[in-house]
Amino acid sequence: MTQFVALPPGLSAAEFERALGELRGLLGTDRVVAVADRLRPYQKMMIPAPDEAHVPSGVVMAESVTEVQGILAICNRYRIPLWPTSTGRNFGYGTSSPATRGQLILDLRRMNRILEVDAELGTALVEPGVTYQQLHDYLSERDIPLWLDFPGPGPIVSPLGNTLERGGGNTPYGDHFAHACGMEVVLADGRVLRTGMGSIPNTTSWQVFKYGYGPYLDGIFTQSNFGVVTKLGLWLMPAPPGHRTVLVQFDAEAQLPAAVDTMRRLQLQRVITNVGVMATAVMALSTFKTRAELYDGPGPVPQPVIDAAARDSGIATWNMTFTLYGTPAQIAPNLAIVTEAFEAVGGRVNPDFHDGSQVNELSLASFGILNWVGGGGLAWFAPVSPARGSDAARQAKLARRILGAHGFDYLAAPTLNGRDLHHLIALVYNRNDADEKQRANRCFEQLVHEFAQHGYGLYRVGIDYMDKLAGIYGSVNRDVNRAIKQALDPNGILAPGKSGIHP
Ligand code: ADP
Repeated sequence: MTQFVALPPGLSAAEFERALGELRGLLGTDRVVAVADRLRPYQKMMIPAPDEAHVPSGVVMAESVTEVQGILAICNRYRIPLWPTSTGRNFGYGTSSPATRGQLILDLRRMNRILEVDAELGTALVEPGVTYQQLHDYLSERDIPLWLDFPGPGPIVSPLGNTLERGGGNTPYGDHFAHACGMEVVLADGRVLRTGMGSIPNTTSWQVFKYGYGPYLDGIFTQSNFGVVTKLGLWLMPAPPGHRTVLVQFDAEAQLPAAVDTMRRLQLQRVITNVGVMATAVMALSTFKTRAELYDGPGPVPQPVIDAAARDSGIATWNMTFTLYGTPAQIAPNLAIVTEAFEAVGGRVNPDFHDGSQVNELSLASFGILNWVGGGGLAWFAPVSPARGSDAARQAKLARRILGAHGFDYLAAPTLNGRDLHHLIALVYNRNDADEKQRANRCFEQLVHEFAQHGYGLYRVGIDYMDKLAGIYGSVNRDVNRAIKQALDPNGILAPGKSGIHP
C-alpha cells in the first residue's frame, strides 16, 4: 500500500486507496498521482504559511467535462475534497496548494483547447488550461488583430484561472471579470450549467451578452467553491491603431495625493482608459537590482540608500505609468490634456515610456521581484480603497510603517482604476529562512488587521488567510455563502475553505 503524504479528512488509507483505484479506472494510472515525488511540483507555496497545513492528498488530471463529472461522482461517494486548479499558478496566493490539508487537486491543465475566436466581435471561448501565451500565439499566427490583457506572470497562467480570481492587468480590459462573458460550470452533482445566453438551445449570443435572463449567476462562481468552471468566454480588445505609454514621476512622497486625485479625474473623464500604476522607488528598483546590491544590513533598506540608488537610475519616489490608445489624431490632444494636468501638480512627464503589459507584450519580467531578496517567498497584500489622494496617502503611511517594523521594504504598486485603488504590495521574503518566514507571516497578519481597522478590505487573499478575511466581511456574508454552498454542494466536496466558505 502507498505511503500517502496526506489523507483526505475522515478517510482511512485503505478507503483512500480504494477511491484512487476507482479514479485510475476512470483516468488511467498516469493521471492519478499520490506519491510524494510527483506531488512535489504541486507544493511550491510561496506564501508564509506552514507547509503541513496545505499538503494535498494527491492530484487527478481531467481531460474532458465527462471526466470531471466522473471524478466528482467518485469524490462525492467517498467524500473526498477536491481543489480545482486551471494552470495552478496563483503566485503569491498559494500556488496550487489547497486551503486545507488532504484535498485532492483537480488539475485542469490538459483541458487546453481554444474553442472559438471571433475576430469581428472580439470574443473567445477557452478551456481552463489555455495560457495567455497560447492564446497570444493563436492570434498572432492567424494575424487576428486582437489584444490580450494579462496579469504579471502572463505567459504561463490561464485567462480562466485568473478571471475566476478576479485578477487584473494593465490595458483598458484590465478588469478581467468585467471582460468575461459566459461560463460553463460543472456542478458538484455533475450537472452542467451554462450561464448567460449559454443555456439557450443553439445559442448565438453566449459570448456577447452576459446577463441572459433571471439572476446573473457568473459572479457566484468566482472566488468560490460552488462549481468547476470548464469554459469561459472572454472579450478581447481590438488592437488599437496606435498607443503611447506615459511615465509621470513625482519626487516627493507628499505628491502622492495630488497624483492620485489627478489620475482619478482623468480616468473618470475617460481621457485615460487603462489603469494608472504608481510604482514606489523600491518596486521600480526591484525589477533590475537586488536588495543585497544596495544594502546588506538588517531591516528595510534605509530611505537615503533607496533615494541614492533611485536617482542613479532615473527613478523617482512615485513612478506612475499609463497609456493613451488610438490614432495619432486622438492621442495628441489627450497627451496635451494629461501633460498639463500632471505638470500642474508637479509631475515630470515622459511621453515615450515602454511597458509591455500595457501594450500586449507578454513577458516573464515581473518575476524579477522575487530576486529582490531571493529565497522564493511572496505574499501579495492587496487592499482596496477609494481612489482618493487622502486614502492613498493614509494607506502608504500605514503599509510603510508596518512593513518596516517587521523588517520589510515597501514594494508597492498602488493601481488606480477610476473610482477604486488597489494598493498592491508584494511582501517578498526568504522562504528558506524560518525566522524570516515567521516574520513575514506576522507582518501579513498585522497588515490585514490594521487595514481592516481603517475600513480597508482586501480584494483577494492567499489560502492561509481566507477564513480570517471572510471573518472580517462578517456573519451575514458568511451565512449567505454557506447557504449557497449547501444547496449546490451538499456533501461539501468542492474546495472546502476557499474564500472562507466551508460546508
Ligand atoms: P492561474 O494559474 O491562472 O494563476 P489557478 O489555476 O491557480 O490560476 O487558479 C486560481 C484559483 O482559482 C485556484 O486556486 C482555485 O481556487 C480557483 N480555480 C481555478 N480554476 C478553477 C476552475 N476551473 N473551477 C473552479 N475554480 C477554479
